[in-house]
Amino acid sequence: MANPITIAGGNIAGLSAAHHLARRGCPVRVYETKIWDKPCGGAVTIEFADYLAQEFGIYLHTGKSPLPRVKFGFQNGRYVETQGLFIIASRYDLQKKLIECIGNEPGVNIQFKHLSTRDHELFSPQTVLATGFSGFTRQVLQNHWYQQEHALALKYEGVLDKDSRIDAHLIVFDSRYKGYGWVFVKEQGRYNIGVGGMTGRADLQHRFGEFVGFIEKQFHCRIEPLPVPPLMWKIPMVMESWKTPVSFFRNGIEFIGAGDVLGLAHPVIGAGIEPAWQSGWLLGESYDPSSQKIDTVRYRHLLKKNQQLTSRKPIDMLVSRMLRNPSIPYKDGLSFFLLKLFKRPTIKTLKRYPWFALVHDGRRKTRFRASVNKPRKPRFYEPDTKQENV
Ligand SMILES: Cc1cc2nc3c(=O)[nH]c(=O)nc-3n(C[C@H](O)[C@H](O)[C@H](O)COP(=O)(O)OP(=O)(O)OC[C@H]3O[C@@H](n4cnc5c(N)ncnc54)[C@H](O)[C@@H]3O)c2cc1C
Repeated sequence: MANPITIAGGNIAGLSAAHHLARRGCPVRVYETKIWDKPCGGAVTIEFADYLAQEFGIYLHTGKSPLPRVKFGFQNGRYVETQGLFIIASRYDLQKKLIECIGNEPGVNIQFKHLSTRDHELFSPQTVLATGFSGFTRQVLQNHWYQQEHALALKYEGVLDKDSRIDAHLIVFDSRYKGYGWVFVKEQGRYNIGVGGMTGRADLQHRFGEFVGFIEKQFHCRIEPLPVPPLMWKIPMVMESWKTPVSFFRNGIEFIGAGDVLGLAHPVIGAGIEPAWQSGWLLGESYDPSSQKIDTVRYRHLLKKNQQLTSRKPIDMLVSRMLRNPSIPYKDGLSFFLLKLFKRPTIKTLKRYPWFALVHDGRRKTRFRASVNKPRKPRFYEPDTKQENV
């Protein structure tokens, strides 16, 4: 029996690492503080939702008519529209369901405990660090953490009024904040609205107020006054994540990062659920049963390839460079013009290499499957028939 590996953090990255390590014969002990509703827009691609349904019987969307479109917009109120490519998940439900499924797998032991760096006896010589943006991660990564780029994001939940003309998920870019605002609509007119950007706390709050006003005016709806302040959280967003290390030594323990710890979220819109899941998967793929160790060189190599095919494709890198470059003026107007001009090729590229879709087929000999030319057909599930499997 192989020695168990400790996984710190039992959310997307940690649970993916647990599932994939256990599948390769490595027992794992996962420590998670608690199941919680992480501040997060919760947008995941249809591919990922399909994958969760097939692999775990987890159905993220059970309604009949999720919004079929996404509008990418700019502060000038102009939009480029694409077919809807994602589903909005509740982070609480997703974590809960994943813990229920993965916690019952052979070789996986999940415990609810808030780890501290003093819990030496709980760490294995190689410990997976999947604690996202947290004090624990900061303590382990120390200087590396401060060198990472972080975006701040905040979100608020509400219910749309009947007169609202919001008929698509909205993502609105705003170069002044090096960021974006979003409105994601869920079942029964429930929505979450938020803003994110590489800017300060006060700026972001100001931007949120502006964005609410903009949406109300554009879409003739009322975002009700907030009873509590929206929840703010950080998203580590490293542009070229493979240039940063994947493992960190503290007190003789090798901590191997996954998910937000490595800044894997998309460098423009901060989508990090799928990159976090992918990194846990690739970490599992890098486990060598004969030496009972995670091969970090292989892990880094797989991560780099995967990112180049998903969230760090040339187009993503170009856009993120443009957004961060203060010497390019009028970015929103220029972006709109370029997106409109190249709408067809851009959408074709997005479809060929979806932003965050899974590209790893999980075989022992890793092969990358970039879903080239694969038609993307949304599939939705009816609550009464399929949910019994959950
Ligand atoms: C406002 C906002 C909106 C976002 N919207 C989207 C979106 O629409 N789509 C998308 O794809 N991504 C989105 N993201 C990014 C996404 O939420 C993260 O990239 C993703 O959650 C990263 O997963 P992770 O498993 O690496 O980290 P996390 O999800 O942060 O999980 C880390 C886990 O570690 C646990 N933990 C921390 N410290 C300890 C400790 N000491 N002991 C034990 N456990 C501990 C925590 O409880 C947590 O469950 C958004 C982020 C924010 C802030």
